[in-house]
Amino acid sequence: MIIVENPNACTGCSICEMACSFHHFRKYSKNKSSIKVNKSIFNKGALINIVYKKQGRPGCDFCKGEKSPLCILFCPENVLQQRSGENE
Ligand code: SF4
Ligand code: SF4
Repeated sequence: MIIVENPNACTGCSICEMACSFHHFRKYSKNKSSIKVNKSIFNKGALINIVYKKQGRPGCDFCKGEKSPLCILFCPENVLQQRSGENE
């Protein structure tokens, strides 16, 4: 499963959302991502949800067909990590 290892380091840049939508659709769109980043300007870090059941978005398939999970690869702050476990 993809976990949020260090939410306080998240800058809310949305690169992970873009990488994920690119994986699913070869397009860049926050609404086509399995990741939803909610960044408050008042708080450090961000609330990051990763969708495993559709919820109106494509579910995370762990970047099937890619060499490695793109959200982890492109996050500049190393916020996301992959762990073995449920959903994997
Ligand atoms: S592993 Fe791939 S499909 Fe899953 S959240 Fe990350 S970018 Fe999206
Ligand atoms: S790419 Fe990393 S720093 Fe940027 S929004 Fe996603 S988790 Fe946060």
